[in-house]
Amino acid sequence: MIPKKSLGQNFLINESIAEKIVSSANIKNANVLEIGPGKGILTKYLAEHAGKVLAIEVDPHIAKFCDSKIKQWGAEKKIEIIKGDVLKINLPKLVEENNFHNYKVVANLPYYITSKIIRLLLETKYPQSEMILMVQKEVGERICALDGKESLLSISVKFYAEPELLFEVSRENFKPAPEVDSAVIRIKRKKLIPDVNTKRFFSLVRAGFSAKRKILVNNLRNLGHPRAKLSVIFRKAGLEPGVRAERLGVEEWVRLYSILEERN
Ligand code: SAM
Repeated sequence: MIPKKSLGQNFLINESIAEKIVSSANIKNANVLEIGPGKGILTKYLAEHAGKVLAIEVDPHIAKFCDSKIKQWGAEKKIEIIKGDVLKINLPKLVEENNFHNYKVVANLPYYITSKIIRLLLETKYPQSEMILMVQKEVGERICALDGKESLLSISVKFYAEPELLFEVSRENFKPAPEVDSAVIRIKRKKLIPDVNTKRFFSLVRAGFSAKRKILVNNLRNLGHPRAKLSVIFRKAGLEPGVRAERLGVEEWVRLYSILEERN
């Protein structure tokens, strides 16, 4: 089977890292949703600890291979391979049909759609309690904003959850080896998410990050707010007039949003 680069098929080949990822998930009989089981290196360890594992795989050849492995392990009752594209599948229906309301996500994600998958999982009708994800190292660092610079991605994650970088995994642990190193992150769902209209809130955040070089106030003018009005709002929100979007945390975005909404 030749790995398909277009599907992000860089398979993990180090069993001890697979075990470390699974033990970080602290599964204890929880249900687990895996995305992209590939040849099943994580799936095997997940099944040892999980109540049930549902694993969504888009490549039919890999899915078939994984199915044959599951038979070899005698784990047919524990693991079900769902053949399909995670971005197109009806996730709420899958959760309902499998009585999966309380579940965790564990995955070595295909890197070409990492952000889309994370967003889908954060916004889905029945969210998971936590995700343990292997992602490209730079993406993991950006999500956690380790350099103190927030981004649209980090704010999108931190709105719903608390991200944490767990450990790094170097590229030689994959076959074929990718051109970048990886990191394993935990995204733990918050019990309470801010009480806002998410569509309008994220339009504001997106607008704030629209032009990287511009200061926040200039980016927000694209939303049709006059500068004088924005100056008053910034003062009320306790924000410096020259602040950049990357300096605001979720709480400050919510404050800014609430003041803007009041005045609309
Ligand atoms: N879990 C395996 C491992 O750790 O070796 C494979 C990880 S590999 C980085 C990503 C896997 O996701 C591949 O098996 C690939 O076929 C699958 N994949 C890619 N795009 C997908 C999609 N849209 N929906 C579901 N699976 C996908």
